[in-house]
Amino acid sequence: MANEPLQEQLSLLYQLQEWDQELLSIQQKLREIPDSIEQLEATVVQCEEDMAGKSTELAETDKEQRSKNAELEMNAEQREKYRDEQRIVTSNEAYTALERQVEYLDKEDEEAEDTILVLMEKSDQLKEELAELEVEVNREKQKTATETAQLQQELQDLETERDEQLKRRKAFLPKIGKKLRDEYHRWMKAQFENQSGAARAKTGFVALSKNGVCASCRIAIQPQTLKEAQKYQKQVYCSSCKRLLYVESAIPDIPFP
Ligand SMILES: [Zn+2]
Repeated sequence: MANEPLQEQLSLLYQLQEWDQELLSIQQKLREIPDSIEQLEATVVQCEEDMAGKSTELAETDKEQRSKNAELEMNAEQREKYRDEQRIVTSNEAYTALERQVEYLDKEDEEAEDTILVLMEKSDQLKEELAELEVEVNREKQKTATETAQLQQELQDLETERDEQLKRRKAFLPKIGKKLRDEYHRWMKAQFENQSGAARAKTGFVALSKNGVCASCRIAIQPQTLKEAQKYQKQVYCSSCKRLLYVESAIPDIPFP
């Protein structure tokens, strides 16, 4: 004789387990979304930091260029002074000495001009890179804004869905006998207490069995155990994975699961 209450209880518990799997996956997503948002924002910050670094480099290059230009101006003034002196000196020696000073200034100017050329090239290069970075930053910002908005919407929707599911769960729970319910909760809690258990919890406490095989561990149920389970007179567990077996009825018309 089949014991309908137990069969029904198993069916209800299995339903609860299905809903709980959905809830678990919602909760997992709810935990992941803020991380994804943070990652998007970090990319923008990184781009902005790159840009700030380039800006500093450009400012330094321009400053260096200004100082080289100032050097050229100072040399020009100095050269003018030497030239004036050359006009009034009376000895050849003094004239030559001033000429050497002017030559030295010329040499310095040449070096400064070379440096300025290099700095100008560097400055142009940096400006080009900065313009590219600016485009990239704007693109990243836009992408982040769009994706963040989507993620936040998803977060809200998931929260609503979770709340609805929790309400449904709360209303549904009293249909299952307290003893069985407690056993289920104890099992789930124990699974969550260790990391690998969380993965095990995904396959649940109630194991379906069709064609004589436990759906959780895929091991064939011993004929004696199967027969016992099909009576639905007492709770029967898989001898291999220790889950509560919810077996397909021997009577074909009974819906399963
Ligand atoms: Zn099993």
